[in-house]
Amino acid sequence: MKRDLLNILACPVCKGDLDVEVFEEDDEIISGKLICKRCHAEYPIEDGIPNMLPPNLREEL
Ligand SMILES: [Zn+2]
Repeated sequence: MKRDLLNILACPVCKGDLDVEVFEEDDEIISGKLICKRCHAEYPIEDGIPNMLPPNLREEL
């Protein structure tokens, strides 16, 4: 995902702003995680795609 996406994305749980922790980056962020600044929920980024499912929903799948 492009870093610009951070300006658009918001936490699906509380609509808070997201921080990013990058594990692997090329032109775009390849893997890492997004962390909500408000409720501290974490969303993994895998193969450049952020997984924006709320954590409670993710566990049910
Ligand atoms: Zn949140």
